[in-house]
Amino acid sequence: MEEVKHGTWIVVNKQHGDESTGYWTERLLQCSECNYERRHSWLRGEKPNYCENCGSDMRGENHDGVN
Ligand SMILES: [Zn+2]
Repeated sequence: MEEVKHGTWIVVNKQHGDESTGYWTERLLQCSECNYERRHSWLRGEKPNYCENCGSDMRGENHDGVN
């Protein structure tokens, strides 16, 4: 029987671009367990309940949510 891992989504700000094109910042969610970076489906402020990469349960301690 496998134990369910618990993780949290870490909000990461990644900077892109260079001097000629300008800079912009992309916000990603990074899994605290496997470092998987998620770009999709959280732009509306929704965080997935599970990491689809490692299966960690993300619902635990992170209910106050960053929107
Ligand atoms: Zn993960």
